[in-house]
Amino acid sequence: MDKLERMKQLAETLNEWARLYYEQDAPVVSDAEYDRMYDELRSLEIEEGFSLKNSPTHRVGGAPQKKFEQSKHLGKLYSLDKCQSFEEFEEWCARIVKAVGSLPILTCEYKFDGLTLNLLYDGGKLIKASTRGDGVVGEVVTAQVMTIRKLPTEISYKGKIEIQGEGVLRLSRLAEYNATAAEPLKNARNGAAGAIRNLDPTVTAQRGLSFMAYNIGYSDKTFESQAEMREFLIEEGFEVEGAFDVVPDVRMAEKFADITEETRPKLDYLIDGVVFKVNSVALRDEIGFTEKFPKWAVAYKFKADEMTTRLNDVVWQVSRSAKLTPIALLEPVDIGGVTVSRATLNNYGDILKKKVRIGDRVFIRRSNDVIPEITGVAVEDEGATAIEKPENCPVCGAPVKEVGAFLYCTGEECAPKIISKLDHFASKDAMDIEGFSEKTAEQLYNETGMKDAVDLLNLTTFDLYGLDGFGDKKIANLLAAIDKAKHTSADRFLFALGIDGIGKKTAKDLVKRFKTIDKIAVASVEALSDVDGIGGVLAQNVYDYFRDEQNSDYVKRLLGCGITFEENAKTEGVFSGKRIVLTGSLPTYRRGEATALIEDNGGEVAASVSKTVDLVLAGEDAGSKLDKAKKLGIQIIDENQFKTMLGI
Ligand SMILES: [Zn+2]
Repeated sequence: MDKLERMKQLAETLNEWARLYYEQDAPVVSDAEYDRMYDELRSLEIEEGFSLKNSPTHRVGGAPQKKFEQSKHLGKLYSLDKCQSFEEFEEWCARIVKAVGSLPILTCEYKFDGLTLNLLYDGGKLIKASTRGDGVVGEVVTAQVMTIRKLPTEISYKGKIEIQGEGVLRLSRLAEYNATAAEPLKNARNGAAGAIRNLDPTVTAQRGLSFMAYNIGYSDKTFESQAEMREFLIEEGFEVEGAFDVVPDVRMAEKFADITEETRPKLDYLIDGVVFKVNSVALRDEIGFTEKFPKWAVAYKFKADEMTTRLNDVVWQVSRSAKLTPIALLEPVDIGGVTVSRATLNNYGDILKKKVRIGDRVFIRRSNDVIPEITGVAVEDEGATAIEKPENCPVCGAPVKEVGAFLYCTGEECAPKIISKLDHFASKDAMDIEGFSEKTAEQLYNETGMKDAVDLLNLTTFDLYGLDGFGDKKIANLLAAIDKAKHTSADRFLFALGIDGIGKKTAKDLVKRFKTIDKIAVASVEALSDVDGIGGVLAQNVYDYFRDEQNSDYVKRLLGCGITFEENAKTEGVFSGKRIVLTGSLPTYRRGEATALIEDNGGEVAASVSKTVDLVLAGEDAGSKLDKAKKLGIQIIDENQFKTMLGI
């Protein structure tokens, strides 16, 4: 293809992309892909020494849309010259030095990624808000912008002034919105742009946008520097978020960029680079403008974190909690220097919401430390096929059940589930079997057919002999560790069972109250829920667990493996050695509270009155137990006496 043909083709494609982006807020490629093609066109134009009439390089932003009233800005909104590396930034600095003799003070600030807005204030009131449009004429979106809560509609400065900034959607707000939205937003930038360029301001209001002010365009008032403009914006009550610095040299400017790039994944809003400007307004006038942008400012762009690529297939991964997670297999794509071929689709509900299908071109976002994520469809493919909901677990074949947005494997024999249970049983806060990791669990499951903790506790040298990585010493160590772990405490054992919702602390509290596993196993829901920190749901879980035949059999078999429990340390107190019966309802204490007080002070709570009982704590409506106590001549106390004894 000759160069002219290529230029025509590039211009056409870029114009179509820009139209979709600016006029319909429906981008079909990532910024990085747009920029790459744009740069190719630019360099061809420089090479050939001319540009096509319809070249997007003549334009700033998109043409304003007919549906909004249009308005000419008092001061032109320029776009920014860009650099992608420190070398290019240093070349820019060299041009500045050439223009004014030496490198002047520079300001450094974030480059927000949202929709640029221009706000006109007059007489201290916000009278018009418009989009940037083509830089000269924008669309009037005053009603929409008025819905931004923190935006000052009145300022103390009474002259005519245009405040420029970015309408952005905070990431926390985006997550909140998407959690309940029928149509999730693909990204924060799009979410902000779509909210403002919507004819219905109530839609804008629902999104909950922010306005980050960063510049003053036209003004009756003279400002001497960028730093002074920023001060003004802060004083007038605008949201001026993000780091800002005034630096004397190239090195400091580059350091600002480095630190910002590191901070970027932690920010609550999108930025795609930093902006460097000559601080002094007088010097800016000296340096001047090109047709498109000021020569005294430059945007240093960070590496891309979003691209588009084709979704080739979806596989389902079973997690340790038996959850099925859809993993997207992608046509490999370079995102900021890293090749990505897999991404998460989070869950089945997310697939339905995002309407992603196999074969579609999708947006994929990669931030530091996080698994790349598909955020939405860029271009639908005609031949695309739906991602099917698996009916059966891909690992064990058991039926899958749907709970909310999630799918779960119901199989008892599902490998990830078994391995995770074994791992939990042996973990430090549970049985604490030294040297037994999830990896060991996986190996023993695969190679010895180990199915549960009973198998684990019954391991022999014979089972382990000849396994990869199991020398004599390792076998001896593991068997010794298992032996040692068999002497444990009741709360560790209870925690090791992995009953839904029973953590370390709850297991301790239960054992503190009921003393033994046997007693917990027969306790009623009421008695269980009387324990501090255990609500009805947890109590029911524990109750149900021990009523399930399979579970109670499992516990019995485990205990039969030679598990012994440490004696619970005896607590000393006013009730030491005393057996106490509770009857009737007490004026202030719940039954569980009174029981805890007795036990914490060395006493034991007995269920029925007999000669061996030392004390009866009686409340209102005490029935036959009280009569029997009287008959046997057992000391009877009420709540007040009880408190006195405790010194409360
Ligand atoms: Zn399964």
